[in-house]
Amino acid sequence: MILAEHTQCDGLLPSELGAWSSVVAAMPIPAALVTHLGVVLATNRWLSVEPGERLLRSAAADDKTTLRFGINRSRWRVRPVDSTGKFLLATQEREDAGDHLLRQFFSSGDSLFVVYDQAGLIVQSNAAWQKLLGYSSDQCFGLDSWSLLPESDVVSRPTVELALREHGRAETNFQMRTADGRYRQIRWALQFDASVGRCFGIGRDVTEEGKITAELERRAFHDPLTGLSNRSLFVDRLDEVLALGAAPSLLFCDLDRFKVVNDSLGHQAGDRLLSKLAERIATVDLGDDAVLARFGGDEFVVLLESGGVDRARQAAAQLVESLTEPFEVAGRSLHVTMSIGISSADLSPNQTAKGLLGDADTAVYEAKSRGRNGSVVYDDHLRSVAARRLDVEVDLRRALAEGCIEPHFQPIVSLSDGSIVGAEALVRWRTPERLIAPGEFLDVAEDAGLMPELGRCVISGAIQAAARLEHHHSDFTMSINVADSELKAPDFCEWIEDEVRSAGLHPSSFLIEITESSVLATDPALPTLAHLRASGFCIGLDDFGTGFSSLAHLRELPIDVVKVDRSFVADLVDDDVTFAVTESLVTLCGALGLDVILEGIETVAQAEAGERIGGTSAQGYLFHRPMSFADLFTLVSGTTPADDSVDRERHVDGVDDGTSSAS
Ligand code: C2E
Ligand code: MG
Ligand code: MG
Repeated sequence: MILAEHTQCDGLLPSELGAWSSVVAAMPIPAALVTHLGVVLATNRWLSVEPGERLLRSAAADDKTTLRFGINRSRWRVRPVDSTGKFLLATQEREDAGDHLLRQFFSSGDSLFVVYDQAGLIVQSNAAWQKLLGYSSDQCFGLDSWSLLPESDVVSRPTVELALREHGRAETNFQMRTADGRYRQIRWALQFDASVGRCFGIGRDVTEEGKITAELERRAFHDPLTGLSNRSLFVDRLDEVLALGAAPSLLFCDLDRFKVVNDSLGHQAGDRLLSKLAERIATVDLGDDAVLARFGGDEFVVLLESGGVDRARQAAAQLVESLTEPFEVAGRSLHVTMSIGISSADLSPNQTAKGLLGDADTAVYEAKSRGRNGSVVYDDHLRSVAARRLDVEVDLRRALAEGCIEPHFQPIVSLSDGSIVGAEALVRWRTPERLIAPGEFLDVAEDAGLMPELGRCVISGAIQAAARLEHHHSDFTMSINVADSELKAPDFCEWIEDEVRSAGLHPSSFLIEITESSVLATDPALPTLAHLRASGFCIGLDDFGTGFSSLAHLRELPIDVVKVDRSFVADLVDDDVTFAVTESLVTLCGALGLDVILEGIETVAQAEAGERIGGTSAQGYLFHRPMSFADLFTLVSGTTPADDSVDRERHVDGVDDGTSSAS
C-alpha cells in the first residue's frame, strides 16, 4: 500500500513536500512505515531507516530537505544524510506528557544536549546547542558531528568510539566549527546506549575557560620576553623524547659577554637584544623536530630529537652563523656571538634530561674557555674534566674547613729604586705535596659558591699579615683581590671594616683590587665600592687591558689605582704601538689622579720601559715571586718572624717555578 502511495511522490519538489506529507499521513501505523522502509533499528522514539528505492528518489529531490509528516498521531521527521541519499534518518516526534517534561529540561539552560546515532549523525539537539553552532534545528538534524571537528581532533575518533563501545561512556574535549567558521571548545560527557544505538552527549562550552587555561599555560611554560618555551616545557619535552627511547641532542647556547651589553646599555636594551636574538635564531632552519627554549638570562637551548652529534654540530654552526649580522638596539649596532655546548644521548650514558643538560652546560664552559663564538661537544675528555672538577670541589671544601687555604704575597716595588711599597695577597691551597695556584681552583670555587668563604679566608690572612708588618714598614699597602661574588654579599663592607679595625689598622693601608668585569656584572658593586672608598680603602682596577677595558671606566668608576695587565707589559719592549698606547694610558691615569701599577714585569728591559713611560710601581717575577708570609716578613723587616707558627709555614711558593724570590 505504501509503495503505491510513494509512487505518487516521485519527482516532488521541496515546495510540494506538503503534499507528500499528507500522502504518508494516510499510512495506518508507524510500524507500516518501518516495515516498508526496511527498519534498521526501531524503538518507540528513534529509528534509523534505509529507504525503499522509491522513497529514496523522492527524497533525493533536495538532500537538505527534512520531511515532516504525521502518521496517526505520530509526527515523523525524515531526511537523507549522505550525499548519495542512501541513508535516511528518521525520528518520531510524537510526545506524551513525560516527554514534554524531558524536552523542557533538554531545551532549557546552557548545557548542550545532543543525541547522535552510531555514525555520529545528530538526531536531536537542544536550543543551546543550535544557538552555539548557529544552525537551526533542521540544519542540525542529520549533521555529521565529526565533520565539525578540525583534523587535529578527528584523529581521536577511534579512541572515543572504542571507549563508548567498551565502557559505554567517554569524556572528550573537542573544538567544533560553528556556522560562521569559528571554533568553540566543547567538553563532552558522552554516553552510549547500545539498546537504542544512540549516543547521548552533554556538553559545555569551555572556550573562554580554555583561553584562560591556555594563557596560564603559556605563562607557565613560555618565556614572557621571547615567547619561546621555557625551561619546564623544554624539560618535559626532553623527558618525553627520552621516554620514547630516542637519542636526542641538546645545544646549550650562551651569549658571549652579554653582561657588558646589559650593564653598559641598560636592562631594557639587553631585553630588546634578547628578543631580537630569539626571533633571529627561531628562523634558523634546524629541522621540524627542533625545539627552541629560553632558559633565562642569555641562555637558549635547542633540542634535536634525532640525528646524533653530527646534526647537532651542523645546527650549532648554523646558529653561530646566524649571528654574523649585527643587531640594531638602542641606536647601536651590536655584534653578538655565542658559545654552544652540545650533549648527545648517543654519546652519553647520562640518559636523563638532567644529565644531558648538565653535560651541555659543562660543554658551554669549555666552549667559552676555548675562545667563545663556537661549539664544543661533551665527550669522554670533558667527562673526565667534569669529574675532576667535582673532586676539586669536594677537596676544596675540606681544605677550607681544615684551614689549608691561605694567602701568599707578591711584593710590589717602586720602579725607581726597587724598594717595597706593598704586596698583593694571592690565594694558595696548601696540600702536603704542593701549593696549588688559584688558576686550578678559583672557577670551581666560584661555581660551587665557595668564593665568599674562600675570599674572607685570604682577606683575613692578609689583614693579619699587614698588622704584623706595620711596625716594620709604616707605609705598606696590602692589596687584596675581591671577586664580584664577594662584593655581592650584603655584609661585605661591614665585615671588612670590622676586620681592619680589629687589627688596629686603617683602611687606607689596603688596596681592594676588582676587575672591570666584576664591576660591570654586579649591579650593587658600584655603591659598595663607593662605600668602601668613602671608608678610606683604596680601590684598584686589576688586569686593565684585558676584556672590556674602557677609558670611560677610568673616569667613571670610584677607583684610585689602575693595574696594567701583564699582556701589555709583555709587549712594551718589542712593540712600538703597545709602548705608545701604554704611555698614553699612564699619562691619562696621571691626569685623572690615578696611580699605576705595572703587572708581570719579568725582565730588566721591561722594568726600564715601564719607568720610561712614567710607571711608578710594579710587580713581577723580576722583582719577587709570590712568597709565604714568613718570607715576606723577612724581606720587609730584615729579620725572621718570632712566631713559631709562621716559621713552620715558611716555604717557597712552589706554584710558579719553585723559587720564592727572584730579585
Ligand atoms: P692577579 O690579581 O692579576 O694576580 C697576579 C697574577 O700574576 C698572580 O697569579 C701572580 O702570581 C702572577 N704574576 C705576578 N708576576 C708575574 C710575572 O712576572 N709573570 C707571570 N707570568 N705571572 C706573574 P696567581 O697567583 O696565579 O693569581 C691569578 C689570579 O687569581 C689573580 O690575578 C687574581 O685575579 C686571582 N686571585 C688570586 N688570589 C685571589 C684571591 O684571594 N681572591 C680573588 N678573588 N682572586 C684571587
Ligand atoms: Mg690582582
Ligand atoms: Mg692582575
